[in-house]
Amino acid sequence: MRTKTPNPTDGRETEEVILNGLGVAAGIAIGPAHVVETGFAQVPEYVLTPDALEEEKLRFAEAVAKARRQLRKLKAKSATLPDAAAEEISYLLDAHLAIVGGSRLLRGVEQRITEERLNAEWAVQAEMTAIAQHFAAMDDPYLAARIQDIRDVGARLIRNLVDRKFQAYSTLPSDSVILAEEITPADTALMDPRRIAGFATTLGGAEGHTAIMARSLGLPAVLGVSELLRRVHSGQTVIVDGNAGLVIVEPSQETLARYQDRRAEMVAEQQQLRTLIALPSRTRDGVAVALAANVELPHEIAAAVDVGADGIGLLRTEFQFMNREDLPTEQEQYETLRDVVEGMNGRPVTLRTLDIGGEKLASALGPRFTPGNNPALGLRAIRLSLREPKLLETQFAAMLRAGAHGPVRILLPMVANIEEVRRSREILQRAGRRLARRRVPMAPDLPPFGVMIEIPGTALAADAFARECDFFALGTNDLIQYTLAIDRGDEQVAHLYEPLHPAVLRLIQFTTQAAMRARIPLSVCGEMAGDARYTALLIGLGIRELSMTPAALLRVKNRVRMLDALSARHRADVIMDQSDSGRIASLIDDFNDAL
Ligand code: PEP
Ligand code: MG
Repeated sequence: MRTKTPNPTDGRETEEVILNGLGVAAGIAIGPAHVVETGFAQVPEYVLTPDALEEEKLRFAEAVAKARRQLRKLKAKSATLPDAAAEEISYLLDAHLAIVGGSRLLRGVEQRITEERLNAEWAVQAEMTAIAQHFAAMDDPYLAARIQDIRDVGARLIRNLVDRKFQAYSTLPSDSVILAEEITPADTALMDPRRIAGFATTLGGAEGHTAIMARSLGLPAVLGVSELLRRVHSGQTVIVDGNAGLVIVEPSQETLARYQDRRAEMVAEQQQLRTLIALPSRTRDGVAVALAANVELPHEIAAAVDVGADGIGLLRTEFQFMNREDLPTEQEQYETLRDVVEGMNGRPVTLRTLDIGGEKLASALGPRFTPGNNPALGLRAIRLSLREPKLLETQFAAMLRAGAHGPVRILLPMVANIEEVRRSREILQRAGRRLARRRVPMAPDLPPFGVMIEIPGTALAADAFARECDFFALGTNDLIQYTLAIDRGDEQVAHLYEPLHPAVLRLIQFTTQAAMRARIPLSVCGEMAGDARYTALLIGLGIRELSMTPAALLRVKNRVRMLDALSARHRADVIMDQSDSGRIASLIDDFNDAL
């Protein structure tokens, strides 16, 4: 929706424009727009002094040399892959090696450093954009495919240049709002909420990992805004309304004032919720509901402790593999996990093994991992870990060592068959024996060993899985995706992603009952757990542990304390007899409204 016409000279809007998308992380961000042009996260931009040019050219040459070494190393490693994959990757890596061996990209960057005095990162970014535009104008499908190679190599060069010391977005004015075609979970991990007010993108669905990261960082976000990059320019004032799913460009004074008031109200509401921190999470009829935290990045431990979480119900270890080119060592992984365990001060921490794949990618795995044609159904999570047993054993060893510092549980993602549990357990035991031989301190006993229930087939076989493991974690995000065949990260089908579909609820109920019969603990750690709208239903189905982003915990606790578990059970019984999600939604909303 646009309220006035754009400026005819450059398409830049000067009047208020309202764009629609998916509100994936609540809150309101107001600030100057920063448009990320090429899909690569923010790079530092500065003009060089004439005497710094030689040094900058040298810095660039070193980044190129490093890229060559990395690519050769990747190529050597790829030789160990099965034939078809090795051939495909080697072809791709050859194309990349050719680019870093001498190409328009390299020449263009050098020229921009010398003639325009751009710093090297900026020069790579600018040259990549120029080449992409040039190729796109030629309308040749072969060249169009090469653009991706140039982008990949450009991104690698930038990563090498900025190194990990670079504080992403640190040069932006505070309260900047990031706008991009796509923001990956790894990009999100680089955002500092003290500096970035929020973000919006053209691509991405509500339950994709980028959306989850936004919620956990407390960054208001709107994804799937189709016209975004055509309508907004860096520097314009924008509002991101993560509740309503709107991006408002150049808001009028009146709109701005209205949003500033709303933002102040939301801050006041959060303050009000803080009065619940010291109060127990118990329903009105005395049923205790444990509320744990999901953690994406280690610094969230402070937030989990701050809101009084009962533990960490899900630590996604993917962050240890993001934004880097090499694999983390056992010692490195151990130190990070140890800090988390110590940070939780005796409260249990559930450590999940690597869940890379699908929409979650990690450059560190390099050629070990190719997404395949259907990534959500392909080599991801435990499947990848079992194909790379060394990787899994290293992770287990780090987890066992972290267990010397406090209670931990170990959780396997995307388990589809019993054999995966058995093989993983053997690897865990092997890791334990190796540590014992090395006399390295570790958890006194092997920690509880659990599986994520997030594949419909696994849910339907929950009885069998309950005999093989010590606890269940119900991952509703993937369970919904796979039950309804809706890509959780695709904005085009986001309207069909329905947590209240009877099939999803039946699988949740079936799994919960299997866990009860086997007397093993079950928690829900998908995004449903953090949405207070579903609290009554989940408690009504018999669930007594919920794990969610710390930012949602007090709102859910508030809901738990308003509820009567018995009435929630009666309402759940009625709901489970329904066949359409619309009717289920009104039965839930009526119940909630009457609280
Ligand atoms: C889930 O699928 O619900 C889950 C918690 O795991 P992730 O979101 O990391 O896939
Ligand atoms: Mg999952």
